[in-house]
Amino acid sequence: MAGCVSPADWGSVEFLDYSDCHRISPRPAHTGNRTLGWPPDALMEIDLGPPEPILQAFSQVTRLSQSVIERHTVVGANPGWLPEWVTLRTAAWNTTDHRLVLPAGVLFNVCPACLYEDSDKGCQFIRMKWLCAAMTICDEHLIPLSECFDSVDRALQCRHSPAGPRFSFRTRKGVLKIPFYDQRSSKMLALMGKFEQTVRLALTARSSTLGSTLGASVDEKLISVIEDLTWALLQMVGFDGTRLVHHFQTLPFPVPRGWRDLSPIETLSRADVSLRRSVLAVVACLLRPRQFAELARTAPRLCSPSPNSELLRCLGTTRANWLLSRAHRWPIAFREHMERAA
Ligand SMILES: [Zn+2]
Repeated sequence: MAGCVSPADWGSVEFLDYSDCHRISPRPAHTGNRTLGWPPDALMEIDLGPPEPILQAFSQVTRLSQSVIERHTVVGANPGWLPEWVTLRTAAWNTTDHRLVLPAGVLFNVCPACLYEDSDKGCQFIRMKWLCAAMTICDEHLIPLSECFDSVDRALQCRHSPAGPRFSFRTRKGVLKIPFYDQRSSKMLALMGKFEQTVRLALTARSSTLGSTLGASVDEKLISVIEDLTWALLQMVGFDGTRLVHHFQTLPFPVPRGWRDLSPIETLSRADVSLRRSVLAVVACLLRPRQFAELARTAPRLCSPSPNSELLRCLGTTRANWLLSRAHRWPIAFREHMERAA
């Protein structure tokens, strides 16, 4: 018998004392605590800065102290991710009203291979690192993370079988499956996966030095330059909603459909997983031209004699000047490259 997890079943989601993951306990859904009337959106909010009543409710459900629950939220464990480096629900452009829609809550991205391995061991975990906007490729399996439906109650299904209940995750393309990649794609994914891990580690390191008066660290400079290049790549450079990243996209990591719109997003947090990967791939090619030469060769503008000049030219004078005014925040080698390109 198959059934969806209803709001009353959120009692079956357990928060345990692990540093970076949430455990989903495969108990039968009907054993969930029905007295809480737990709204599904609560899970979308728990990882950000959950308000007191939600913390108290989770504390009751899990029988863990409130301070432990707080440590396992994004704001408690990785304050440096907020607000621009956590995966929030995707921005959407409402074409009728011509306005940007920004739904509340996080967006879950999951690695199918991790979840299948979890199932074999008896219980599944949602890793907190999957909520980091710098992570689009699993650091263990080096395959792309899949984006769940943008609401948890539609994304998470509990199926009962003779072996006991199992959770499965649904994506926009159906039930989550482990994809297969050829050797060349796997090589590119591994390369990009390593870059993403570097960025995530820099973000985590930055969390611990937030508010420090010692000046910008190497990690902080890396994050600053990536934020500024992301801003540039998400800028619209055509009346039809074409963004700069459309001109620079690489063949293995193309911009997904649907982003040639008028959403004025400027950070990765509101982009879907494929757009984030596209942007990060271009950023990696710009920052590490030697290491990413093979990837850059798949994008005509990135393998031109001066991709940095191309970027500034496509951006137009005003925005290029604004970008260059941020150069003091960047690593010195990249700053010099960009200033020479100007
Ligand atoms: Zn994995």
